[in-house]
This record gives sequence, structure tokens and C-alpha cells, in this order.
Amino acid sequence: MSKYTTALVTGGAGFIGSHIVDALIRRRIKVYVVDDLSTGNAKNVNPNAHFTRMSILNPQFVEYLKRVKPDVIFHTAAQINLRDSVKDPLNDAKINILGSLTIAHVAGQIGVKKIIFSSSGGAMYPESARLPWSEKIIPDPSSPYAISKRSAEMYFHFAYMVHGVQYVALRYANVYGPRQNAKGEAGVISILTSQMLKGKPSTIFGTGKQTRDFIFVEDVVAANIAAMNKKVIGIFNIGTGKETDVNTIFHKLQKLTHAQLPARHEPAAVGEVARSALDARKAREVLGWKPNVKLDEGLERTVRWFGK
Ligand code: NAD
Repeated sequence: MSKYTTALVTGGAGFIGSHIVDALIRRRIKVYVVDDLSTGNAKNVNPNAHFTRMSILNPQFVEYLKRVKPDVIFHTAAQINLRDSVKDPLNDAKINILGSLTIAHVAGQIGVKKIIFSSSGGAMYPESARLPWSEKIIPDPSSPYAISKRSAEMYFHFAYMVHGVQYVALRYANVYGPRQNAKGEAGVISILTSQMLKGKPSTIFGTGKQTRDFIFVEDVVAANIAAMNKKVIGIFNIGTGKETDVNTIFHKLQKLTHAQLPARHEPAAVGEVARSALDARKAREVLGWKPNVKLDEGLERTVRWFGK
């Protein structure tokens, strides 16, 4: 049993948020979901959750928070697209900085005990640093998206220092799995899988030699639950520490989907790093968390879900 009885999941109609909602409901926690459905889908929301369609930027969101007074907040709602953050950094900052600051600010007034923030590790560290990147490396966010994620982490730390609201910021590697939106540009695995299953040519941004650290959504949910249950605060990388290049993913998915069309290459985005992998030893030591799902198994489960 968890020591918390009510939770709010912002972005709970989204990919990662909806899986967190399911895990909380399995633990008999009363779950509230706020999502504006900008990239999420109401079908993802567990029917046992209390769902409100609303933007976290809506002034009524503050009233909502004061009424619901959750014990714990999982803040996953965000503008998640790195390319869009370059095109429209103001919109990115509104959602990712001001939205997060609203939560940090109000949480102190309404007695929220803990905030688990979905941050990002992929674009947070200087490219010149040795891989895999640990939290000890001083961040050097290379895109408006990464800048906004870093800013939010700092506001949550400030709220902890001033109001004592505990927080954990989880810096995810590249998350993949069932329910990931294949329409955006964020999840290469969901995009390639969906294109292949529809018999469309696959799009690869850049040469495909860029590497990423792919982590299955179930492992990310487990990290969120560990962050809720452990009496700790601070920043944790959540990844496997292993690099896989996009061309390798493409070939593995081709085998799983029996797709035959060659990939079409498009230019890489500004702010996209050539290589990335996260050192998650701190999460292992302090949260007692480690990744359990191997890439081949995760890809198979993802393809199976998209093929349904
Ligand atoms: P997602 O798009 O599926 O989920 C985000 C959800 O937030 C969506 O349901 C969307 O409708 C909602 N949302 C967006 N703006 C909102 C607003 N103003 N008010 C209310 N709801 C709003 O994406 P995801 O991959 O599940 O990402 C969840 C979180 O994890 C994000 O904060 C993202 O930055 C972070 N993250 C994801 C990855 C990844 O690889 N998927 C990696 C690092 C960090």
C-alpha cells in the first residue's frame, strides 16, 4: 500500500501519463487526470480515473488544484516536440515553464506532499561529455525544449527549498512503447512502426547513425512509482546506459513487421544530438530502480500493440 491516497496526473491522456495512471489505479490510489488532449487521446484514460479536459495554462486549473488537493502530482503534461520548441520557443516556454511553475507554486499552498516531474535527459547534457551521461555533469541544454525542462526542474527545487514540497525530477532517455503517438516527430520507434505497418515508406531524420538510449514505458512507470514511494528528492536519470542507432532500430522493426520499403532520409533538426545514453546508476542505488525490459522484447510488444 502506498502512503498516498490521491494523485493528480497532468498529461494523463498521453503516452507515459496514461500508463502511470493505470499503475496508480492498480495500487488503489484515487487518480485525477488533467489533459487538454493536444497530443493525448481520451481513449488512453483509464475509466476509473477522474478526467477533466483542461489546459494547465487555464486560470481555472489553479482553482481545480485547490479543490482536488492531491497528495502527489505526476507532472507529465508538456509541449514534447523538440523541433516545435525551436520553431515556437514562446509556446514551449508557456506550457513547459509557466505550466510547471504554476504547479510548483500552488503545490506549496495546498499541502501537496510530492511532485514527480517528467524531465528529459536526452538533450540536457553537453554533447562533448563522455557517454553515458550521469547527473553529475553540469547541464548544457541545447534546445528551447531542454531549456524549459531544466527551468522547471529548478522551480521544483525552489519550491522544495522554500515551501518544503518534495520533488523528484526523472530525466528520461528515449521512451517507447504502446500508446506512443505516431503523429508527432518525437518517438522514432512509434513513427517507424506505424509507417511500416501501414505499408508507407519510413522517414529517418539525418543519417540514421545517430544513437539513442531506448527505454520501455513500463520501466519508466516503475521509476515513477519508486520515486513516489521512496523518501528522496532530486534528479535521476532513467535510461539503460546503452546506445542503439536509428538504422539498427529500423532493421529490427523491418524484421518484426515484415516491411520491405527502404527508408527516406530527411534533414536532422537543430538541437538534435548525434549520440546519447544515460547513466542511471543513481536511480539504481537510491530509488532501487533498474530497467527490466530488453530492447528486442520492448520492440516486439510495441509492434504487437500497434498492429492491433
Ligand atoms: P504525450 O504527448 O503523449 O503526453 C503529453 C500529454 O500532455 C498529452 O496527453 C497532451 O495532450 C498533454 N498536454 C500537453 N499540453 C498540455 C496542457 N497545456 N495542458 C494539459 N495537458 C497538456 O508525450 P509523452 O511522451 O507521454 O511525454 C510525457 C512527458 O515525458 C513529457 O513531459 C515529456 O516531455 C517527457 N519526456 C518524454 C520522453 C519520451 O521519449 N517520450 C522523453 C523525455 C521526456
